[in-house]
Amino acid sequence: MKRIVSLFAFFFIHTIILGQTPEEKGLQTINQSTAEAYIHFLAHDLLEGREAGTRGGYVAAEYISSCLKTMGIAPLAETYAQPFEAYAVERQKRGRFQVHPDSIKKIKQGVHRKLSLQNIIGKIEGKKADEYVIVGAHYDHLGVDPILNGDRIYNGADDNASGVSAVLQIARAFLASGKQPERTVIFAFWDGEEKGLLGSRYFTSTFPALDKVKAYLNFDMIGRNNKEANPTHVVYFYTEAYPVFAEWSKKDIQKYNLHLSPVYRPWDRPVSGSDNASFALSDIPIIWYHTDGHPDYHMPSDHTEKLNWDKIVDITKASFLNVWNLANDMQWITSK
Ligand SMILES: [Zn+2]
Repeated sequence: MKRIVSLFAFFFIHTIILGQTPEEKGLQTINQSTAEAYIHFLAHDLLEGREAGTRGGYVAAEYISSCLKTMGIAPLAETYAQPFEAYAVERQKRGRFQVHPDSIKKIKQGVHRKLSLQNIIGKIEGKKADEYVIVGAHYDHLGVDPILNGDRIYNGADDNASGVSAVLQIARAFLASGKQPERTVIFAFWDGEEKGLLGSRYFTSTFPALDKVKAYLNFDMIGRNNKEANPTHVVYFYTEAYPVFAEWSKKDIQKYNLHLSPVYRPWDRPVSGSDNASFALSDIPIIWYHTDGHPDYHMPSDHTEKLNWDKIVDITKASFLNVWNLANDMQWITSK
């Protein structure tokens, strides 16, 4: 009892004298109304399903750039937009879109298709400016099917407006913490994921300091209940060689009373599923949040009103703390 009293006294004095810690200051800016604002816009019918290389996709890209600029996040390069092109053979041959220069060269020899795409990328420079931690989510989705009978727009509220909202809220939380991170934190919004992880593939094949990227945290669908009876369910994939990633998660969920029941899935080489694959193929450690499948997956009915907002907010908080550790803890890399 004496120990509990002294522990309580410690936290009381700590709060009175020292105030909140930087990560607590950041954490308290993450909320439901901000998640709603981002997701309602991105999943609106006016965005026409955000298909890569179409008007709706371009509007989404402009919107995300504006959000970053408003909050005061710097672009990674000259501008937030990282433009690139993807090529595929004529559609009846059913080839995948490619971004690698060698494949593009071959495709261009015949009748081919071309897409103009763009990743949106911002950053907060760290004290060690040339060490990077990246947090990302794809913003594209499946667009519109004009001959679908009924609702023709694939709104993609869960897939992946939910993930985009998390990256944006984490960027704002880092700024609100008032502390410059030790490592540079990159906030990435990938285009063309639905057409074959094109944006993250382009980034990992062209970023000159890829060997200085220490970790990548990915979001793809964080807003639905796989089973209604288990609304706190989330899958937490992580690179198996780093058990510390799961330890952080368990500790933070308890400390901040987050209502999440992660299924921890250590994975020796997480090279499929979503944009984490592009990074895992380069042997970069990853964490990937995903709330699992549901009947509206890749259907026009992936709508905003079906989202579990409490879960989106708590996943955003838990992952902000992960990114905080990845960016500020200089020891974890040697802990594997
Ligand atoms: Zn997705």
